[in-house]
Amino acid sequence: MPAFPQKFNSTVSHWQQTNRGPTSLWNHGRDAPLPTEVVDYVIIGAGATGASLAYHLSRPGGAAEGKSIVIVDAKDVASCASGRNGGHVPAQTWQMMTPFMAPLEEGGAGLTAEEVVDVILFEQDNLALVESIVQKERIDADFKKAPRFEVLINPESAAENARLHRLFTSTVERMPKHRGRSLPVKIISNPAEAKKVSRVNNALAVNLTQAGSWHPHRGVTALMRLALESKVSDVKFFSWTPVAGFTEQTDGTVSVDCGARGTLTARNLIIGTSAYSHHLLPELENVLTGYRLQAGLVTPPATYAGAQALKGTYAIEEGSYLIQTPTSGLVFGPYASVANSRGLATPKEMYGVEDDSLTTAPWRSWLSTYCPKTFGGWGPEVPGEGLTKVWSGIICHSVDHIPLVGPLPGRKGVFMAAGYSGQGMALIVNITRGLAHQLKTCQWDDETMPRCFEITQARLERAKRALQPRDYPVGGLSFTAPTVNDEARL
Ligand SMILES: Cc1cc2nc3c(=O)[nH]c(=O)nc-3n(C[C@H](O)[C@H](O)[C@H](O)COP(=O)(O)OP(=O)(O)OC[C@H]3O[C@@H](n4cnc5c(N)ncnc54)[C@H](O)[C@@H]3O)c2cc1C
Repeated sequence: MPAFPQKFNSTVSHWQQTNRGPTSLWNHGRDAPLPTEVVDYVIIGAGATGASLAYHLSRPGGAAEGKSIVIVDAKDVASCASGRNGGHVPAQTWQMMTPFMAPLEEGGAGLTAEEVVDVILFEQDNLALVESIVQKERIDADFKKAPRFEVLINPESAAENARLHRLFTSTVERMPKHRGRSLPVKIISNPAEAKKVSRVNNALAVNLTQAGSWHPHRGVTALMRLALESKVSDVKFFSWTPVAGFTEQTDGTVSVDCGARGTLTARNLIIGTSAYSHHLLPELENVLTGYRLQAGLVTPPATYAGAQALKGTYAIEEGSYLIQTPTSGLVFGPYASVANSRGLATPKEMYGVEDDSLTTAPWRSWLSTYCPKTFGGWGPEVPGEGLTKVWSGIICHSVDHIPLVGPLPGRKGVFMAAGYSGQGMALIVNITRGLAHQLKTCQWDDETMPRCFEITQARLERAKRALQPRDYPVGGLSFTAPTVNDEARL
């Protein structure tokens, strides 16, 4: 059953609210006729995945040089997760070693230490790539590279931190392709210093690394606009064009059913539909699952404004992801495991949900009290300060926690990139660079793209046997291991 048109009206995020001017792409191509000739690359989905892939494909020397690209979306550019996230362009640390190395049957990713290192360094490369594209293309999306405060508040996590760091560095040194690489980091293990540096009341240790933040709606819109303005590819985008399904034809093309809007014929079809992918690809049922998170915008009191503003992005264990925007305050929200363990929603109420039209009282209450409780010396909020906006969004969780990238087994000419499990901004620009390269060379010859992202039949079958998110114990140890794990992701 197709997910679109949806029966509800989505909430509007801070980012979607503040990008309505003439440079945005609302309603782009909404009433234009779809092309009737065969298109070289049809991309379904105009979130970060679709926009960034179109950007990479349409660069000089890219796979689509001299060729055509059509992007269709059921709604507008960045209307789903890409326009409703935390704005954090993170890059994870060795804290991911524990949950990613935990067996699949226990809710982990079942990766080797080497595979986890591949993923962590790939995210570092993603951050550098986002920064370089923003600079090269002069993208006006408030991108800022800043310190990332990974704040540990759990005594076990703080105690494990040094061991995991050693495991990470020794694994890097064992791997010839990564030898010599490291993360920019300062580890603060003295609780008093951790508290002072982070300003988080119950901090026990801090890993001070680097991350980025940006206005994701403006960033994704800019990538789409750069693709549309390509001088070497013919790129078209049609908003409000829901795809009901597709059929692989005997002549090697793929016929894409856009309902009342018409039919597209593609030489290559790339699916960037994130949490909604299983509607088009039934084989991904129980491999990719959508879940709803809620996020908010807080206007801080003067104690956290001006020279006193937070100096970086945050990943606070058993708490929140958080960024400091240049002028609007803080954007943040609880991690899925926090939402479950604090009773904001049970896994059954969160997983499988595709409705982003509402926010709920427990989340609003958590969001309105989190900053005063967490940050030292926050002080009283006068009217107009504190929580000013709340929205919801749907994340695409991959049951083995890592993305699915590349050709779909058993299909011809059909590719995808999805399943970032809440890490999209940390991965997408680099993943779509790699996918665009694959579409050119027709092989997995990019050494930097983690091979564990590949979609194989064996992986799909294994993933279906994995612990399903709805069955994660609430606040339990499998998905919510007693380390920062998924909580430090965003
Ligand atoms: C509240 C929240 C906070 C988050 N915070 C962060 C963060 O701080 N950092 C981070 O790294 N990640 C974060 N994420 C995750 C991140 O936003 C996602 O991983 C990322 O945006 C996924 O991008 P996407 O393009 O694959 O999917 P989406 O942005 O969801 O785009 C998918 C697109 O496909 C379209 N579509 C679906 N089905 C069809 C169809 N049948 N026909 C046509 N179009 C279709 C949809 O309309 C949509 O536009 C957060 C997510 C949420 C919800």
